[in-house]
Amino acid sequence: MTDNPLKIEFIEQAKQILGPLGFIDAPEDMDNYLSDWRGRMKGNAPFVARPETVEQVSAFMTLCAEYGVAITPQGGNTGLVLGGLPNGEVLLSTKRLRAVRDIDPLNDSVTVEAGIILAELQEIVAKENRLFPLSLAAEGEAQIGGLISTNAGGVAVLKYGMMRDLVLGLEVVMPDGRIWNGLTGLRKDNTAYDLKQLFIGAEGTLGVITAATLKMMPRPAVKMVSWLCVESPAKAVELLALAKAETGGAVSSFELMPRIGVDFVLEQMPDTRDPHPDAKSPWYVLMEISFPREEGARNVLEGLLEKALEAEIVTDGVLAESETQAFEIWKIRETLPLAEKAFGKAVKHDVSVPVSALPGFIQEANKLVYAIAPNANIISFGHVGDGNMHYNVAPPEGVDDVEFSKEYGPALTKAVHDLVCEMSGSISAEHGIGTMKRDELAERVSGVELDMLRAVKRALDPENRMNPNRVVGI
Ligand code: FAD
Repeated sequence: MTDNPLKIEFIEQAKQILGPLGFIDAPEDMDNYLSDWRGRMKGNAPFVARPETVEQVSAFMTLCAEYGVAITPQGGNTGLVLGGLPNGEVLLSTKRLRAVRDIDPLNDSVTVEAGIILAELQEIVAKENRLFPLSLAAEGEAQIGGLISTNAGGVAVLKYGMMRDLVLGLEVVMPDGRIWNGLTGLRKDNTAYDLKQLFIGAEGTLGVITAATLKMMPRPAVKMVSWLCVESPAKAVELLALAKAETGGAVSSFELMPRIGVDFVLEQMPDTRDPHPDAKSPWYVLMEISFPREEGARNVLEGLLEKALEAEIVTDGVLAESETQAFEIWKIRETLPLAEKAFGKAVKHDVSVPVSALPGFIQEANKLVYAIAPNANIISFGHVGDGNMHYNVAPPEGVDDVEFSKEYGPALTKAVHDLVCEMSGSISAEHGIGTMKRDELAERVSGVELDMLRAVKRALDPENRMNPNRVVGI
């Protein structure tokens, strides 16, 4: 520990606060915390804190304040913009903050600590015959604190909103160690500023979220999944409008995938199969509709599909006839990021534009990309219902991914993001800013917006010790 920048007194007091299972100080034991999900980057930390209670978080943060130590909070470490990867800061892992503090079925609310994993929360709430609707491919690892800190979205935003829409209250430990108890199950509360919103999506730059009160929703009686062939993104957007109108807004997921993405999955991911091998289509829509009652649901869906076929919006498709088939269809979508990973690094863009502008965006972006890298493989997929595309550009076969990213990455990203901004879109639809987009954020937002962002940061973290150099500089 001779080259550890932390004072010995700090480390000793930290160990006292955290207890024997509450820290890691041997660098060789920190590996699990120090590489990012995509395996691209290695972080470094002089100490990993693993508190088990909010009181321990508070005492540890007070100690950090006393010694001027900077902190990077980390949940499941599935973030895609490197926000939770320490770069010399002390890492504070929320893995052991695992209490379920309260379930109130009549208020449709549940209060859990930050380290509960999303899939666990879904199960906890299911036992009360309720739904926690947030759902994404990392749900087996991502934690509630991390999901709130990135304002995660996923595949059911269309019906239920993003994390911001699902949080009723928060408990946060501030950079000076004080605990803010903002845990409330209220739907209505107009007392001054809505402070919780500052921490939602703040990526750990303002404080450590230790617990949250979240909304529970009624469980739909039946979810119907279909796999539909469409000729173009424009047809997908038409289908979405028709589906919303025909089902009274019951569409819960609406995901678009190109053939090349489906092929990637079928080649790379074990136990996957083409949901409709007889119909090769340039684009596919995975549509899930959540009905409150079983009676009549099938008729509504069949009627919708008939209309879509008649109007030549859809060319073909299958309706999942069982839960297994629905699971298999969902698996194609959910494993697409993993299949892509197997092909090496693509130049990735997590962008959104108004839904109506999405087909035009894809068309224009493709032209721009091919002008820069003519043989690139474009895999644009995602949450069309929210206007959110993961617009990824992979190297042509046989071309080294690192070389490709180095040579074309900056020009491709500039072109795609310029287009997004021209179309009044967002250069970070759901993954956040982290370190990856920090400089670009500062360049692209207006002066007045940047001033407000920095003023919030300075007000809540005046010493710039909470996840410094992420999101926005002070
Ligand atoms: P981490 O990765 O550990 O941290 C993320 C950020 O939050 C960091 O800046 C960290 O410092 C901060 N943080 C973590 N915990 C706390 C806390 N308790 N208090 C304060 N700050 C904290 N996102 C979507 O929105 N939609 C998707 O569809 C989607 N799909 C994904 C699919 C895959 C396969 C993967 C790997 C990721 C996907 N993501 C998606 C990103 C995912 O939502 C985020 O990775 C997730 O929200 C982060 O949760 P985490 O617990 O892993 O947080």
